[in-house]
Amino acid sequence: MKPKERLAIARQMPVEVTPEVRVGNYEEIVEGYSEFTAILEAQRCLQCKKPTCIKGCPIHNNIPQFIALLREQKIEEAYWVIRKTSSLPAVCSRVCPHEFQCEGHCIRGKGKGQSVAIGMLERYIVDWMVENNKSMHQACAIPGDKKVAIIGSGPAGMTVAYWLSHKGIPCTIFESLPVYGGMLTVGIPPFRLPRKIINAEIEALKSCGVTLEHEITIGKDKSIDDLRNEGFDAIFNGVGAHVSRKLGLEGEGSTEGVLYAVEYLRKIYMGDNIDLGHNVVVVGGGSVAIDVARTALRQGSMNVFILYRRSRDEMPTSADELHHLEEEGVHIEFLAAPIRIHSANDKLTKIECIRMELGDKDDTGRRKPIPQEGSNFLIEADSFVPAISQNVDHTADKGLKVDLMPWGTYKTDEQTLQTSIDYLFAGGDSVLGPQTVAKAVYQGKVAAESIERYLNGQDLKKDRNFLCR
Ligand SMILES: Cc1cc2nc3c(=O)[nH]c(=O)nc-3n(C[C@H](O)[C@H](O)[C@H](O)COP(=O)(O)OP(=O)(O)OC[C@H]3O[C@@H](n4cnc5c(N)ncnc54)[C@H](O)[C@@H]3O)c2cc1C
Ligand code: SF4
Repeated sequence: MKPKERLAIARQMPVEVTPEVRVGNYEEIVEGYSEFTAILEAQRCLQCKKPTCIKGCPIHNNIPQFIALLREQKIEEAYWVIRKTSSLPAVCSRVCPHEFQCEGHCIRGKGKGQSVAIGMLERYIVDWMVENNKSMHQACAIPGDKKVAIIGSGPAGMTVAYWLSHKGIPCTIFESLPVYGGMLTVGIPPFRLPRKIINAEIEALKSCGVTLEHEITIGKDKSIDDLRNEGFDAIFNGVGAHVSRKLGLEGEGSTEGVLYAVEYLRKIYMGDNIDLGHNVVVVGGGSVAIDVARTALRQGSMNVFILYRRSRDEMPTSADELHHLEEEGVHIEFLAAPIRIHSANDKLTKIECIRMELGDKDDTGRRKPIPQEGSNFLIEADSFVPAISQNVDHTADKGLKVDLMPWGTYKTDEQTLQTSIDYLFAGGDSVLGPQTVAKAVYQGKVAAESIERYLNGQDLKKDRNFLCR
């Protein structure tokens, strides 16, 4: 096919469950490509000599190579190309914010064009392997005598366990919750990421000899010193960022009806039935706020509002997520922020908001929201859910002198992810702050290489395969 012919093919749109049906359940809403649409979409790739998509992918998947194999219908081979770099392709292909990562760097998406649907193609390949009962994991290595403790079973911890167990280094994951998977299981809703996908990855780790222990909180049930005394030669800290940031409004901590996004989602996805009432106001502009709003709808709330202090253009979320949210009937109040909680007998009644205007760009490169005096308005609310980011919980390092960044994440060597304590490595949200699955996966991979070198007494920096940049 000539480049001109490839350019003439339009991006293939996936089939989606209608909004009316999907708000009534938690089933996955985006269907995968059929063989026909997958191959047609793969034909749109121009196989650039200097592929910028690889740079955009935090894991550096060899995207052009797996797409080229897919269009030759060598799907198993395409899968193993992805597996070379990624420990969680079924997850990443579904939840990566593609337009800010791989697809955002695709040359076809520049100007008015539409990028190649890299995420959907990756998903097709992985789903094909499952449907065709193909073996999806490399052979495990014979375990050696050095062992590693991993704190937290999120994508960072899972990735460290994946790479080290394939190198013959026995790992034990300690998880404080009764379920494994971190934010994949207790944050991202099942209608975006079906739980069977995460469970399959956990089972694969177990079959490779990884030991998983749940309901053990490091720093409470046992300390990092205890782990050392139990003979763990190195430790990876992948505790994520689970402490909700507060807005600082009066009555925020004492008013019935105010609850925080990650706590709400964690309870719901661990099986609690929480009714937010008829009218729900969520604050924030990212995936977390959106997931709270869509979960509240599925739990039966009728009027769900999101308050976001900037405009649609600044929203740090993908166009797809925004489209799904609005289709399902969530109302976004752009350029608005909450300023007061109104209550009666300590029970929430209304949220007072103020309109914003955008000023000059701030340090983040985004235009600064400026409150407009006299523009206050009220929204009736049974529940109020701030979703404005999270901090790292430091229970795990209790009693340990480990260097932190001024904003509370772990300070690590920029390239190797070793902390200020030689046997302790860290990665994922606990180092980056709340970020993405693919970034946590990549950091897990970097930390695994560093841990292996540390255990073998090798130089941590010389001639590495993976390093943080
Ligand atoms: C609602 C929501 C939606 C998201 N949507 C997306 C998305 O669409 N795409 C995307 O790429 N990213 C998304 N993210 C972000 C993504 O989930 C995180 O960046 C990623 O999970 C971070 O991985 P991690 O392994 O560092 O930490 P986590 O996934 O947070 O896992 C940390 C684990 O450590 C455990 N732990 C904590 N302290 C201890 C302790 N002391 N002892 C033992 N265990 C402990 C925790 O219980 C948890 O299981 C979303 C996050 C949320 C909350
Ligand atoms: S891992 Fe994520 S960013 Fe990388 S190619 Fe896959 S979908 Fe794109």
